[in-house]
Amino acid sequence: MVSLKVYNTLTRQKEEFVPLDKNKVGIYVCGPTVYDDIHIGNARAFVAFDIIRRYLEYKGYKVTYVCNITDVDDKTVTRVKETGISLQQLGERHTDAYFEDIAKLNLKKPDINPRATQHMEDIINLIQTLIDKGLAYISDGDVYYDVSKFDEYGKLSGNKAEALKAGARIEVNPRKRHPADFALWKKTEPTEPSWISPWGKGRPGWHIECSAISMKYLGETFDIHGGGEDLIFPHHENEIAQSEGATGKMFVKYWLHNGWLTINGGKMSKSLGNFITAREAVEKYSPQVVRFFLASVHYRSSMGFSDKGLRQARRNLERLINSLENLEALEESQQKSVGNKSLLAKVEEMRQKFEEAMDDDFNTSLAVAALFNLGKEINKFIDTNTEIEGKTRREVVRIMKSLLEDVLGVQIEGYKPESEKLVKDLMELIFEMRQAARNRGDWKTADEIRRKLRKIGFVIEDTSKGTKWKFQQLKL
Ligand SMILES: [Zn+2]
Repeated sequence: MVSLKVYNTLTRQKEEFVPLDKNKVGIYVCGPTVYDDIHIGNARAFVAFDIIRRYLEYKGYKVTYVCNITDVDDKTVTRVKETGISLQQLGERHTDAYFEDIAKLNLKKPDINPRATQHMEDIINLIQTLIDKGLAYISDGDVYYDVSKFDEYGKLSGNKAEALKAGARIEVNPRKRHPADFALWKKTEPTEPSWISPWGKGRPGWHIECSAISMKYLGETFDIHGGGEDLIFPHHENEIAQSEGATGKMFVKYWLHNGWLTINGGKMSKSLGNFITAREAVEKYSPQVVRFFLASVHYRSSMGFSDKGLRQARRNLERLINSLENLEALEESQQKSVGNKSLLAKVEEMRQKFEEAMDDDFNTSLAVAALFNLGKEINKFIDTNTEIEGKTRREVVRIMKSLLEDVLGVQIEGYKPESEKLVKDLMELIFEMRQAARNRGDWKTADEIRRKLRKIGFVIEDTSKGTKWKFQQLKL
């Protein structure tokens, strides 16, 4: 196995990736807060870690991928108050939507999707351990983590507790001993969703959910913890304080963080009106194009979401798919030729380049460049050959698909946006001609068109709003 290097936020350098248990890897990624549908920035993080997971699997690791669902926290409780629907209803609605969205984006389903509300016992036990160890204190029904008791606080983000004491960025809360202390458990108002605890009725803080859940499924120490760079502080810093404080062991070996996603050059924000959900993006540009676009930039770089970028991604993806289709269209030859051998050698070289790029902290940007070169080699071959050996063709197609589909997760099958548009235009033309036939009373021709379209799989229906159609290929 060629060595893989990953950038570890904790040590601020690239390190050789050596999992704790030979060829097994445990990954925890902070999942969605289910108070709203996921936006394209969330989707970027999920796609980035899905590619990381896929590449580890491609390299032969057995991966356990855990992505939690935050179904109780400040945001969900606020939304419950605003809308009047129950916390459970709110959670179910947006959890279902999240699963639909990630399926459309061709994310492999996490092995475990633990919901915070189903792990109250684990969360309460962890808080109790922290109280017993003197790292947390009870204050008027709340429980706070005492950051002054954890010497290494700040090691991930570089924000030292001492510096925070003087900082004005943290709101003053008289229940806290120290401004940088954070809530593990919050006393609730009588109308808020709550759970029974040794400290009275309340609900957990967001940070403790991730510590309790990740350790339950991956153990007290595990390999990779991922999330957006905006989660480094305070969320991940606090997870370290909680987990390492409770166990006395290293919590996570490699901390990986993905960069920002801006939209049309600015920060994504609902109030600025430049906010786009993952669902809207997929509907507008097709899932494969969105996925290819997100995959084409290294996960640690910031990237801009723009129409122009998406259109470019579509053209690039189409070029790649066209090369493969043209290769599939060549006649099959029975004789061996020098051209076949050199094509295979080139393809093999590009596969190596792809792997080298991915081994260097999952550099998908360079990996995609290797795929373009692979496409160019195929095109060169097509320009000078009319035939190809069956074995060569199968091997080239297999390699291209394993990199594009298995690793980057961009499904080739079913992606035909240009031809889709062409079909739409053609159907409109046919409908116009059929309407013209009906207008002159030629029902026979109109029915004939309908019957023949049905035969090739197009079902048409005349409605008050015009003729509608759908493609419904009959299974043979
Ligand atoms: Zn988290």
